[in-house]
Amino acid sequence: MKNNLILAGGKIVDPATGYFGPAAVYLENGQIAKIEKRPKEKPSGKNVLKLDGMIICPGLIDMHVHLREPGREDEETVLSGAEAAAAGGFTAIACMPNTDPAIDNAETVEYINERASLAPVKVYPIGAVTVGRKGENLTEMMEMAACGAVAFSDDGSGVQNNDLMRRALEYARSCDVPVISHCEYSDLAAEGVMNESFVSTRLGMKGIPSVAEELMAARDIMLAQYTGGIIHIAHVSTAGTVDLIRKAKKAGIRVTAEATPHHFTLTDDLIESFDTNLKVNPPLRTKKDVDAVKKGLKDGTIDAIASDHAPHSPEEKELEFDYAPFGAIGLETALGLVITELIDPGLLSWIEAVKCLSLAPATILNVPGGKLEAGAPADITVIDPKLEWMVNPDEFKSLSRNTPFRGRKLTGRAVMTIVNGNVVYSMM
Ligand SMILES: [Zn+2]
Repeated sequence: MKNNLILAGGKIVDPATGYFGPAAVYLENGQIAKIEKRPKEKPSGKNVLKLDGMIICPGLIDMHVHLREPGREDEETVLSGAEAAAAGGFTAIACMPNTDPAIDNAETVEYINERASLAPVKVYPIGAVTVGRKGENLTEMMEMAACGAVAFSDDGSGVQNNDLMRRALEYARSCDVPVISHCEYSDLAAEGVMNESFVSTRLGMKGIPSVAEELMAARDIMLAQYTGGIIHIAHVSTAGTVDLIRKAKKAGIRVTAEATPHHFTLTDDLIESFDTNLKVNPPLRTKKDVDAVKKGLKDGTIDAIASDHAPHSPEEKELEFDYAPFGAIGLETALGLVITELIDPGLLSWIEAVKCLSLAPATILNVPGGKLEAGAPADITVIDPKLEWMVNPDEFKSLSRNTPFRGRKLTGRAVMTIVNGNVVYSMM
């Protein structure tokens, strides 16, 4: 029953072929067996799921997630993060190595793989670039890649040393995996807590200038060009970074990029509320930056949308703004924000949005998924595009509650998540 479902009555969105229209999807033995476009007759039988009015996509993939295992299992575990992912419509996630201890060796990659084998969605570990993410010595990247690390990153901080970053790109290139850069020069960011702007001045808070991000993005693009390595710019937050990536792509440099829902929906002036859930890194910027990020998504400069799901305990987030940690959770709101803020206003088509949420991350990380075709794993997200709901983190599967979107009304939500042919989440 679980393995051989027929999804009938819905419309499929397949960014690989550009098809957005009615289809029946046949799942067998954990794979997609057949896609019947514009079916003349409705399939019948007890394993048919009637999905009239629903959208059927290749399973969504979130390539930037922080699970807090090992180290802070009170905030998130591999299992709870995977459950939050399933509820948010994601069939796969990639987890960042800024755990305690960091994912900086083959053993820890294996530990994550072991935990992931019990999880409802696929979890791909990302290995650290430097030992302990200290920015001093490169990790054993080849060994980690051999154990399944899909990328390397010191996310949470940028790799400050230029020579180390150059060598990281060279090693990662030989494993054919990207280096994911959290672009921020810490000397420029100093002790900043929000975007440097007239708002930070008015609030008397120390600012993080946009150039702290842009300068490192420029460096990483130049190093990717010089080494032939593959660079992925995480959570693009400024108009200047979007411009740099656009030019680099035109020049044929191997650069890809992602944006988060908070960076295409929220601006720095909201911090007048002192809500620490708005304290994220990179910080929320200005309307001009938000517009540039949206434009970058529209023209393909920014390839992917990723949540940067960053769980923190209430005790930590209830500190004063200056002392609270950076980060907001996002697995269970990302899709609703994409539909409400990008698709419904007509900025992105369904094909473009689903590409950012599935095909692009699958391609960047070189993992299965992103396509609705025979022989592909039966990883599918079913979306009710009209479902109206209000964000209530108290109902989240995530162990943490730190979202800046509490109380926000959204339209559109994943109602079923299928991984390897198994229904791992369902509201139906
Ligand atoms: Zn980051």
